[in-house]
Amino acid sequence: MLIDFHTHTDASDGELSPEALLARAVEAGIETFAITDHDTIAGYLRARSRCPQGLALVPGVELSCVWGGTTIHVVGLDFDPEAPAIQSMLTLLGSARQERAVKIAQRLSSRNMPGALEGAQKIAGTSQIGRPHFAKWMAAQGHVADVGAAFDKYLGQGKPGDVKTFWPALGDAVRAITDSGGIAVLAHPLKYKLTRMKLNALCQDFSDSGGRGLEVVNGRQTGDEAVRLRQVAQRFGFWVSLGSDFHRDWQHGPALGVDIAEGGGLPSVWEQVSQ
Ligand code: AMP
Ligand code: MN
Ligand code: MN
Ligand code: MN
Repeated sequence: MLIDFHTHTDASDGELSPEALLARAVEAGIETFAITDHDTIAGYLRARSRCPQGLALVPGVELSCVWGGTTIHVVGLDFDPEAPAIQSMLTLLGSARQERAVKIAQRLSSRNMPGALEGAQKIAGTSQIGRPHFAKWMAAQGHVADVGAAFDKYLGQGKPGDVKTFWPALGDAVRAITDSGGIAVLAHPLKYKLTRMKLNALCQDFSDSGGRGLEVVNGRQTGDEAVRLRQVAQRFGFWVSLGSDFHRDWQHGPALGVDIAEGGGLPSVWEQVSQ
């Protein structure tokens, strides 16, 4: 059985419309699916009324937050999209993204790249603006060879365009989800490049805040990583979650859908979501 609890549409930094993504999910044979755009549920809301029969669409989002100076992503699943707690968090995150965009543009401007805010905003259109829109603009302007180079040189972790101070704290992001009746899942735990001790501390704080799930498969990762993450899930009593983190078709990118066998038979979020 295939599921996918981590995907993006063009409401954030994905390339497909919600409708096109749903069609692809059906084509792939996925049974339970979540659209988890960065800090917006606009794609989900659009998809909700257009979901084909046979595909169970779970409300989803990927919230940005900060823990110990590191930007962390928390996937929210199966919450009430109309609940005040998630609504006010999304409003806050929308403003945070706008403020951050201004700051990123200032930093790029001081590095001989003027006009970044207007440029990135134009590419983002009505989507939730993010670093990928800046990266696309920088590549289009010829400031860098491609999007990858934009992240390597200017936007990636620790680089000038990596502005983290605007995000809410981890606990606030988790509570916005749980107070809305949802399940909070720690997204791609190995992407933060934390030491073993720090990852344990993050998991403990996440759990203490009400986090219940751990993403043990995120896109293309090695089997060893899934084994390690399933051990972490067991140690903390987290339900396992699986997602492709699909953004677009790309030969090196992940395909949509993950086999639930990747959960290793452990207690899982897909057994918890209400259908
Ligand atoms: P933001 O949420 O605006 O901070 O942007 C983060 C997003 O940028 C991630 O969700 C990825 O989709 C994308 N991203 C991060 N690192 C890279 C990279 N090295 N190359 C391309 N895209 C990246
Ligand atoms: Mn993304
Ligand atoms: Mn993420
Ligand atoms: Mn993601």
